[in-house]
Amino acid sequence: MASRTGILLLVSGPSGSGKTTLCRRVADEGEAVYSTSCTTRPARDGEKNGHDYHFLTREEFTQRVEAGEFLEHAEVHGNYYGTLKSEVLEHLAAGVDVVMDIDVQGAELVRTCDDPAIQNALVDLFVMPPSEDELLQRLTGRGTDSDEVIELRMKNALEEISYWPKYSYRIISLTREEDYSKFKSLLTAERMRISRLQTP
Ligand code: 5GP
Repeated sequence: MASRTGILLLVSGPSGSGKTTLCRRVADEGEAVYSTSCTTRPARDGEKNGHDYHFLTREEFTQRVEAGEFLEHAEVHGNYYGTLKSEVLEHLAAGVDVVMDIDVQGAELVRTCDDPAIQNALVDLFVMPPSEDELLQRLTGRGTDSDEVIELRMKNALEEISYWPKYSYRIISLTREEDYSKFKSLLTAERMRISRLQTP
């Protein structure tokens, strides 16, 4: 019987697009592994180290960059974020699908990396809100950030949205259920790709 290598599903989109919820849900349902990133930003209320992120100091982050531990890393909103190779590569080889919540710069770095295992696994998806008004409402509605932070995130979000044509797939976010249904359909379709099948 044929087995397959895992899919590396990169999911980008501005804050408030709902991309993290999609990634978390698919992982919670056991359909894929969520790649927990490293970040130097402080943890928000309720976030757990090792689950939401590996929270590192700038020094720790830099040391791990120098040790070659990252598949990609980028500066986002004034903090460093990065994906550890250890969160991704072994899973793909074992045929386990991995979802990554990643900004547009990180996605470009993964897209252009020269590792054939990554290239064969790669699927990239951009999730965006249906309108600017809706985006602002979602950013404000979360209630965890100050006005200043929201303003910065709105500016960054509009800049980030301009990158959607670089992706292979796009979801215009509507309701959680509709979005999730499209997200699962993408995973289902990608699992049927013949290039990922390993025939004995
Ligand atoms: P937040 O601080 O709101 O959790 O995330 C801010 C941004 O960083 C989001 O766009 C998120 O997708 C991105 N991000 C999270 N993890 C990574 C990562 O490992 N690498 C990169 N490049 N961006 C990340």
